Amino acid sequence: MAVATRNGAFIAGEWVAGDGEEIEVRSPATGELLGIVAGSTPAQVERAVAAAASAFPAWRKTSVLERVELCRRAFTICMERAEEIAQMITREVGKTIRESREEMVEFTADHFRRASEDVLRHAGKVLPSTQERSNAKRILVVQEPAGVVAAVTPWNFPVDIAGIPVVYGLAVGCTVVWKPSEHAPLCANMLADVIRDAGFPAGTLNVVHGRGETGSALVRHPDVASVVFTGSTRTGEQVARDAGLKNRVLELGGNGPQIVLADADVEKAADAAVVGCFYLAGQCCTAAERILVHEDVKDAFVAALLERTKALKVGDPLDEETDMGPMCTQEVLERTQEHIRDAVEKGARVLHGGGHDGRFHEPTVIDGVTSAMRIAQEETFGPVAPIMTFRTLDEALAIANETDYGLTASVFTRSLHDAWRAAEELRHGTVHVNETTNYWDQLAPFGGAKKSGAGRELAGWIIDALTETKQITFDLS
Ligand code: NDP
Repeated sequence: MAVATRNGAFIAGEWVAGDGEEIEVRSPATGELLGIVAGSTPAQVERAVAAAASAFPAWRKTSVLERVELCRRAFTICMERAEEIAQMITREVGKTIRESREEMVEFTADHFRRASEDVLRHAGKVLPSTQERSNAKRILVVQEPAGVVAAVTPWNFPVDIAGIPVVYGLAVGCTVVWKPSEHAPLCANMLADVIRDAGFPAGTLNVVHGRGETGSALVRHPDVASVVFTGSTRTGEQVARDAGLKNRVLELGGNGPQIVLADADVEKAADAAVVGCFYLAGQCCTAAERILVHEDVKDAFVAALLERTKALKVGDPLDEETDMGPMCTQEVLERTQEHIRDAVEKGARVLHGGGHDGRFHEPTVIDGVTSAMRIAQEETFGPVAPIMTFRTLDEALAIANETDYGLTASVFTRSLHDAWRAAEELRHGTVHVNETTNYWDQLAPFGGAKKSGAGRELAGWIIDALTETKQITFDLS
């Protein structure tokens, strides 16, 4: 079924023209104009929040079975349109078609299925009374839908990441206003149509487009109860200030270390580094941004990594054979180049790649990286494997923990002792043992320590940010 490509805002169940700036959406691979989307001014954001606020009282009282049925219907529609939406993700963002299909089928469509299962099983608690010597009290703890949720999302997983607050928000009885990334508004509108066509009532989901000012107007709005933001640390810090006392989850940047100890399976570690550094051309919050290798296995590891890196096919992201498409934005391409330049000026050596052809950046391996280089301290978000060496586990852990970030780390070793030590001492929200940093489990809590964020999301873990926890006391005496 062909799906119309919408280019406005979705408010109170209707597609309406945006009243703000017109934003051109161009393919990062070809420069082709894919569409023009009209953004929303703060006045239109106000109307979207008003629509969500007026839909909330009825929606929060809808039975859980009705909400679950709508999620199940949306899952079916989402699967039927998965290929069409995946093609649009690839055109807008430049990720390979295989990556976009994974985003649609494994992650986005499945949020509807997981949310319907999670809300059916989401239970409160009954606590004993400990305040007085009586058996007359019953203390219930329930989680009630918070109200209007503001979902502000990035371009690298444009519908999957949005799906977490949008789908779980609707499933728990909240209403939502979503501000997608200006780099991927068209696939966002296709997901909004899935939700509309599944039959979610008018006003339960609303979508506004635009740049930071639109997102900011939404986050600051006094009728928004909960803010779920995913994006860079810099924007996240501003969002935290703007959100004030609202419920919030912030999923921010990363600078993930992959540690390869002397007893590691070097071939497996090299496979993991390829996924960690080059999946989505390195534009993942969980990317392996630093590869820390024990000096005893460095030569073997680097040889295995180079062999795999040279075999990667860079090109048209719609081609089924392509491993790496273009960088989504010029800004990320330039930052990647700056980080490589800075590293080389401070003594690092490019072993492979380093250049780019337009937005297509070569998969790059750099040796001799030290903590003094920007590439070791900041988030690059490009297809680079920066190699750092160490001699002891203590040294590796100190380097791995030395940046402001703490999202995902991985360690490769055959030693149970070293694996446990690393898992306990790495100050990161997720630690994988013998697995790439770019491994996600949709049922596990996802989020960062330090400047990588606050709060946890995915599956049932996001429910805390979307609900108010309430104590209800009964006295039976
Ligand atoms: P940005 O921080 O630039 O933008 C994220 C979203 O916030 C966009 O929709 C953006 O609008 C909007 N925005 C910009 N300024 C404001 C503001 N003042 N108030 C409210 N909203 C605003 O991130 P990117 O889109 O460039 O995404 C890449 C970043 O996201 C990386 O740092 C990456 O690590 C991080 N990320 C984190 C993840 C995690 O789960 N921890 C997952 C995926 C990405 P617009 O861009 O349209 O102008």
